[in-house]
Amino acid sequence: MRLQKPKGTQDSLPQSSLRWQYLEDTARRTFERYRYGEIRTPMFEHYEVISRSVGDTTDIVTKEMYDFYDKGERHITLRPEGTAPVVRAYVENKLFAPEVQKPVKLYYMGSMFRYERPQAGRLREFHQIGVECFGSKNPATDVETIAMAHALFQELGIDDVTLHLNTLGTSSSRAAYRQALIDYLTPLKDQLSADSQRRLVENPLRVLDSKEKEDKAALVGAPSILDYLDEESQQHFSQVRQMLDALGIAYVIDPNMVRGLDYYNHTIFEFMTSVEGTELTICAGGRYDQLVEYFGGPQTPAFGFGLGMERVLLVLEKQDKGAKKEVPLDLYVAVLGEEANFVALALVEGVRNQGYVAERDYLGRKLKAQFKAADQFKARYIVTLGEEEVSTNQVVVKDNATRQEVKASLEELMGNFAAILEKFEA
Ligand code: ATP
Ligand code: MG
Repeated sequence: MRLQKPKGTQDSLPQSSLRWQYLEDTARRTFERYRYGEIRTPMFEHYEVISRSVGDTTDIVTKEMYDFYDKGERHITLRPEGTAPVVRAYVENKLFAPEVQKPVKLYYMGSMFRYERPQAGRLREFHQIGVECFGSKNPATDVETIAMAHALFQELGIDDVTLHLNTLGTSSSRAAYRQALIDYLTPLKDQLSADSQRRLVENPLRVLDSKEKEDKAALVGAPSILDYLDEESQQHFSQVRQMLDALGIAYVIDPNMVRGLDYYNHTIFEFMTSVEGTELTICAGGRYDQLVEYFGGPQTPAFGFGLGMERVLLVLEKQDKGAKKEVPLDLYVAVLGEEANFVALALVEGVRNQGYVAERDYLGRKLKAQFKAADQFKARYIVTLGEEEVSTNQVVVKDNATRQEVKASLEELMGNFAAILEKFEA
């Protein structure tokens, strides 16, 4: 047995968790401004919740599922994405009921699991922040949601993200385009990768998503979905573009973009950035107007996105943004002797209960080593607690930077630390 983390997983240590918190806090604050509420769904679902909704022939379902049978022979999968579970919860909890609350806006953060080949920005357990907006087919909802992702990147201080935009249109537009693509690719079949030859039969739009050189070459003269849009599809897409223009959000139209999931229609988008010369998608989403019905709810249009947290963190690290400072100590208590050991415990508890950050020595170290620890923890003030301090009930509070000292009783420390701090010269 190897006592090491499983392939494709990561530990986040306290220092790097600060950046995670920065990302999470910024997302929460941004989403609140748009009236989003948090939803938390289970980390695992019945296999069927994911398989058909995400798409039986998508890579996520055919290759990447972390599924297993539990002790009750139930077919379970760790969730590979957040939208299907949220839609399942939306329907199961009848969140569609109160008309007056529409649209219903939900966000989530958490682990997702995909059995992928681990590499930079590609893990087996990774984390997403995602949002889903239910109940509006207005193109303004598409644009509001895209604008919210855009606002988040601005809040985070991430520059150089590019918005890529496409539409998949209505299902009849998509069917017409699908046929045109089949007609175009079938004579070129032998030039396609093995995966794409299979996709051509099962799910031809997926060929557009291929990263293989030979597929990209074969696609050079392929028809564009934009030439197959019906009236309704064209109108929705042109309104989305006009609204983005009105908000001053730049985008490029990428007619070859399809998403890794099958449930989308109309608008789809990705925010891309480059990390060390490679293009990475850090946020992706779109409109999905049929999924709520598929889960047994009423016809409910919806729009959402998922954002890969590890990839955003890669960018934040590269751009050296969002490294929150470690929390400094307000007070460090140096401890000498058996009796002081007892009193010190009550002392730091008393100070912490007043809302301050306090720490003490537990290891019975020499005073010099304790002061070193106080420096390491960036303690603002230090108290040394020995037999004499305990018996006289008096301590000296010392400013660790200026060396200025103020006398205080143990009761004052535990009852009103603020009053002691006021006695220090500014
Ligand atoms: P890709 O084409 O890169 O495989 P995808 O289409 O599978 O992406 P989505 O399912 O749309 O990705 O997931 C949304 C976001 O989640 C991605 O843009 C990416 O930032 C992140 N993501 C997806 N898979 C992984 C992974 N294995 N490890 C880390 N982040 C991931
Ligand atoms: Mg993928």
